[in-house]
Amino acid sequence: MEMKCVMVRQVGDFEITRTPLQNPLEDEVLIQVEVTGLCRTDLKLIRVGHRDLVLPRIPGEEVVGIIRKMGSAVEALSSQARVKEIDTSVAGFREGDRVYVYPGVWCGNCPSCLAGAQNLCRSMRVMGFHRDGGFAEYVIAPAKSLIAVSPQLNAEQAVFAEPLSCCLNALELGDVGTGKTVGVWGAGPAGTLLHRAAKALGARPFNIDPDRRRAELIHGATSCPDTYFDVCIVAVGSKSAYEAAITRLNPRGRLVVFSGLSPADDQLPVSFNQLHYNEQTLVGAYGCSYRHGVQALSLIADGRVAVDDMISHRMPLDDLGAALEMVENRRGMKILLYP
Ligand SMILES: [Zn+2]
Repeated sequence: MEMKCVMVRQVGDFEITRTPLQNPLEDEVLIQVEVTGLCRTDLKLIRVGHRDLVLPRIPGEEVVGIIRKMGSAVEALSSQARVKEIDTSVAGFREGDRVYVYPGVWCGNCPSCLAGAQNLCRSMRVMGFHRDGGFAEYVIAPAKSLIAVSPQLNAEQAVFAEPLSCCLNALELGDVGTGKTVGVWGAGPAGTLLHRAAKALGARPFNIDPDRRRAELIHGATSCPDTYFDVCIVAVGSKSAYEAAITRLNPRGRLVVFSGLSPADDQLPVSFNQLHYNEQTLVGAYGCSYRHGVQALSLIADGRVAVDDMISHRMPLDDLGAALEMVENRRGMKILLYP
């Protein structure tokens, strides 16, 4: 049997092709992709490559789908267990279940894994980067990476768990909590999710975006107060945004380095005396851990983070080229792809 997929053989190009359908290994499952989300990272990965990209590769790290086949060990566990658990236990999954795929595969034993930062696992394998992802009709994932999607969520809502998880990791590293003011640079899909998640955590977020229409979508007509923030999070890959954000920190403030920069923009002058005298912190944030996926799905399920109004386009996977151009030109908000 074959499946349709997007294949990147060399950086800068992709093709829509057919490839043999693989069988899951004993600890893996075969998932029929219902929907995948497109994000700027996919644009970067295809156009200019990425630190973690191993070619040839099927991209796609935001995946929700239905379990169609289980590896022998998963099958055995599943038939033994009758209770579904929301943890790394694979027991309880059945064929036909809707699952969200945490995109990382981690070792569980290294210092980062033991510290709860699976995204920094020294042998991290990321779906869509090191292993094939969801821009296809089917994807294979280890059972321990799956999170059950509760019946009150549809596939489109659940697929926001991946970008929202990355936002939750950033908010955690920024120590965002009740009463804190949060400046978010960017009002695209990530900036909007950061805003909504910060609010759900009891903080007071405000977005700064040169595209006023986008910022106004979040804030109504209010313009940005010319103030300082307890936490600044940069969700645009722009050097000037970082230069601005670092000047807007309160004493003890934290600047979260959420968006990567192109290699040409990577070096920024930072006043260490500013950090010294104001006891400020610079902290990086990259990806997310499994538990952020669990937290994200529950925030979406109980309505604390709304996602439905962020979907601007639903497109067939065959239109990936056009969809990438829209992401590049910042047209629309969240684009969902259907295989
Ligand atoms: Zn590890």
